[in-house]
Amino acid sequence: MGNIFCIGRNYSEHAKELGNPVPTTPVVFLKSWGSLVRPSPDRWYLPRDIGRIDPEIEWVVEIGRDASSLTEADALAAVAGYAVGLDVTARDLQSEAKSKGLPWLASKGRKGFAPLSEVKSVAAMGHGPFELELQVNGKTRQKASTAEMIFSLPRILCFLAELYGLTKGDLIFTGTPAGVGPVEVGDRVAAFLRGKSGQIEFELHVE
Ligand code: ZN
Repeated sequence: MGNIFCIGRNYSEHAKELGNPVPTTPVVFLKSWGSLVRPSPDRWYLPRDIGRIDPEIEWVVEIGRDASSLTEADALAAVAGYAVGLDVTARDLQSEAKSKGLPWLASKGRKGFAPLSEVKSVAAMGHGPFELELQVNGKTRQKASTAEMIFSLPRILCFLAELYGLTKGDLIFTGTPAGVGPVEVGDRVAAFLRGKSGQIEFELHVE
């Protein structure tokens, strides 16, 4: 098994809504493999005792081969396929960690905090750009194009390969657009990734 890399603050409107500066190099953090869940069955258990929980919709990339150095021109050849996922965030814990200068794992890496769709191949989906949409109880909460990312996918791939190395099977959560908000028990959450040649979606029932 590889790594689950996550890019923070990769859409400027989302960085602003959380009061963060827009970064000049990618902000990278990790989730645990225990955080990964495939929403089938589609129930998702909401932790009760840690305050506000936000599902951040993100375009997710699966790496198809090991790479320790890439150029932006050839970087996309390292991709196996694409998915849509939720970077679930315990926002109160994250705010506390930020104020104390502590890592984000406790707020983002808990078990079940990375619901992920099936991964579809590049052949099926193309390389985008894709439209991301998060609906809560049938209403659109987040909607954006991956073309709006501050750091493009080739740039992210080069950056990760150079500093950390990419491994076949790694997953990359590429950041969330504006509109992030909390979920409650009883909510239905639907995530969509739409491209010219294909669509991926899943739904969760928050319990
Ligand atoms: Zn995120």
